[in-house]
Amino acid sequence: MNLFEESKKYIPGGVNSPVRAFGSVGGDPVFIKRAHGSKVYDINDKEYLDYICSWGPLILGHADEDVVNAVVNAAKNGTSFGAPTELELKLAKKVVENVPSMDMVRMVNSGTEAVMSAIRVARAYTEKDKIIKFEGCYHGHSDGLLVKAGSAALTFGQPSSPGVPDDYAKNTLVAEYNNLDSVKKLVEENKGEVAAVIVEPVAGNMGVVLPKDGFLKDLEEFCKNEGILLIFDEVITGFRLAPGGAGEYFDVDADLTTMGKIIGGGLPVGAYGGKKEIMEMVSPTGPVTQAGTLSGNPLAMAAGLATLDKVCAPGFHKNLAEKSEKLWQGMRDNCRRLNVNYAFNTIESMGCLFFKEGEVTSFKEATSSDTDKFAKFFHGMLKQGITIAPSQFEATFVSDKHSDEDIEYTIKAHYNALKDL
Ligand code: PMP
Repeated sequence: MNLFEESKKYIPGGVNSPVRAFGSVGGDPVFIKRAHGSKVYDINDKEYLDYICSWGPLILGHADEDVVNAVVNAAKNGTSFGAPTELELKLAKKVVENVPSMDMVRMVNSGTEAVMSAIRVARAYTEKDKIIKFEGCYHGHSDGLLVKAGSAALTFGQPSSPGVPDDYAKNTLVAEYNNLDSVKKLVEENKGEVAAVIVEPVAGNMGVVLPKDGFLKDLEEFCKNEGILLIFDEVITGFRLAPGGAGEYFDVDADLTTMGKIIGGGLPVGAYGGKKEIMEMVSPTGPVTQAGTLSGNPLAMAAGLATLDKVCAPGFHKNLAEKSEKLWQGMRDNCRRLNVNYAFNTIESMGCLFFKEGEVTSFKEATSSDTDKFAKFFHGMLKQGITIAPSQFEATFVSDKHSDEDIEYTIKAHYNALKDL
């Protein structure tokens, strides 16, 4: 039986999240049966070295023993109670202790939910309706945020989605990433109406685009002066760049921060949090409604805690950065040897090669990448048993389970794939 053909009969496009379908690179997606460490295995037991890492959550690689044990032990004691648990308290404490800008945190079930909720709180707190986002940043698929968005929206060439009423989208203003003047202009044009600016501190959904020196600090200062809340969407960067995420890494004190991915250790979790007086707007302390049957689910909390215990241990990020740097350096050397001058953006354990000469610091530059070349490169890697995200506009993630041998092999494969273009 061809699983993909069969799946397409029952699931739109055969997938439960669009970019998985290989739509922009061509061919059929690999169906995964199991995974361990740095490797995933397809339904025929073919092994792949994996750099998708579930699109970010698996900073400890697949089926980490401590994470699996934590989930199994939690499951034995019941999978959901709809009542508070000590596990939730432990995870909340872990987050608050590690993320300097967060005094309080609320658990939800996905990054989408986290951002949607944070924006609601920001609007309630400021009593203003408009928000500013950046072109090419993706903040989940809630209505008001599917405006000039990245990731799946961008991969399929529809950065804004049908089905989003104009009335919703009209409160979302769009600025240029790495361009503070574009934010200032929007604020000037909408004086007294802007509740919040939301940003991916490192943009990870138009490929990887790094903030220019001072961009985030200047944004922080500008927002403070204008009485506008700054929301850091750290669904990707949270716990990846540092135990305190991008806030710690770039020394920026966001009013609200959203998280997902790593915080759930591979189970469905999102979280939002920030300053106490803002978070106390949330029900039942305050009037802002936000609820969830499975929020704070014990399996998900157990996976998150087991993950963060390791990720927040001293030396974890230093080791991961050194490992990643070996890979990035090898890839840079390959480009040099092959005389290609493609933009290659990396930070800590996330990176992205754009098929565009020169720099990529903006949405415009990111989207001028040659996506046909990317598709060939993608298949070149896949043929050699390496999985990277099937879209130019996603990040490559290194986990702590990638071995020296894995990295050496990947550098060779990368050379071959680039040479064959
Ligand atoms: N924000 C960012 C920065 C993301 O990268 C993502 C997902 N890739 C989301 C929000 C949405 O998270 P989820 O897919 O868990 O809903």
